[in-house]
Amino acid sequence: MIRLKWKLTGMYLMISALAFFLAGVGISVNLKGPAGPGLAGIFLTALVLTAPLVYFIARGFSKRIDELNLGTKSLISELPKGFPDVGDELGELGENIYLVTRKLQSTIREVSQESNKMMAILTGMLEGVVALDHIGRIVLLNRAAGMMFGAGEAEVKGQYLTNLVRDHELGIRLLRVLEKGESTQYEFSLAGRVLRVLMSPVVSSQVVQGAVAVFQDITEIRRLEQIRTEFVANVSHELRTPLTSIKGFVETLLDGADEDPGVRERFLHIIHDETGRLQRLIEDLLTLSHLENKQRSGDGAASAAGAYDKVAQVLIPLARAKNIELRVEAPEDLPRVGMGEELLSQVFLNLMENGIKYTPPGGKVWLEVEEDGEGILIRVGDTGQGIPRESLARIFERFYRVDKARSREMGGTGLGLSIVKHIVEQAKGTLQVESELGRGTVFKIRVPQKTEDSPA
Ligand code: ADP
Repeated sequence: MIRLKWKLTGMYLMISALAFFLAGVGISVNLKGPAGPGLAGIFLTALVLTAPLVYFIARGFSKRIDELNLGTKSLISELPKGFPDVGDELGELGENIYLVTRKLQSTIREVSQESNKMMAILTGMLEGVVALDHIGRIVLLNRAAGMMFGAGEAEVKGQYLTNLVRDHELGIRLLRVLEKGESTQYEFSLAGRVLRVLMSPVVSSQVVQGAVAVFQDITEIRRLEQIRTEFVANVSHELRTPLTSIKGFVETLLDGADEDPGVRERFLHIIHDETGRLQRLIEDLLTLSHLENKQRSGDGAASAAGAYDKVAQVLIPLARAKNIELRVEAPEDLPRVGMGEELLSQVFLNLMENGIKYTPPGGKVWLEVEEDGEGILIRVGDTGQGIPRESLARIFERFYRVDKARSREMGGTGLGLSIVKHIVEQAKGTLQVESELGRGTVFKIRVPQKTEDSPA
């Protein structure tokens, strides 16, 4: 393809040649006498001959510039495969525009991908993130922060954070972040939730441009800490009671009471019972802790009949001692229960032992296990003293007893039902209780049965 400079040089040469030619024609005509076309005629002829040539060349340029325009326009909407390579400077210019645009487009794409990534991270975060300008106005707020403050980004953009979170101390700390560039961490309550905020300055060229505040909802953490603290206090109390009693009786014996065989035997019996209580308490605590660490009592395949057999030798003598009738219906051919057999035994033991404990002599305690289409239904009932309505919701709490003194007297730890609840819930089962004072209590447990494809 011919370069533009050659095209222009060619055009110049052609026009010059034509001018020379016409000048020559003019001179020769003039020499021939006044009958020739004259100067005006020659000029006109020159105009007529050069006009199409100039038009032709100008049209060529115009076409090239149109192509360039068209190409540049199409760059804005969609990037073409490339510019038509015509080999002149205009073609090169077009190619360069094309390359610059391609570079720009890929840079813009990268920047917007980065920004999308950042937004996706911010949106997916559980922590609330708020970006503030140099005077504490909200510039950006992610979804979690919007949910914490009950407001969307559009509503609060441009507002002062201190208008959204009305906490005096938070305001003072934010001021310090913006003025002195110091980071700070602070805990406060907002609409019944406990929030922890970490505020850090955004510094550029050694000037604080704003701040970023990250809010974390720690209500659940604080609640669990509270439960743990109460649990430790309860355990200490439960351990201290029998220990104080043991210590008192041992001291009395050491002080000479052991000389009276009757007193000695009575005291030793009390010490024996109290150590038994301590032992049961520690065993129940270990069971609970084991269950909490394991988190998978849904594993396994227990036979209800097999699980009962494991605890029958403990329950039968207890029932016999109180003249309580024990009835058990747990067919051997029932589908397996989706939990370990040891755990199912523990459920039977805790519920039936309670039944025997809280049923007066001559009463009945029963265990019925059946398949009811939705899973395995276990019912443990008694004709005992029953549970007051107001206590029904609380009996599964650790250390809750309807009658503290009575439960202790019978060797209860206050942990039996919470262990049962734990086991059943881990096996994805449900637990219900119905009771009538003076008539008896029935615990109903529904647990999934073990199917071929459920994990072993
Ligand atoms: P405990 O070791 O004291 O029996 P549990 O956690 O097993 O502790 O039971 C909590 C409380 O629920 C008991 O103290 C008792 O007041 C009540 N309770 C449990 N089972 C029965 C029942 N079958 N009949 C009456 N009250 C019951």
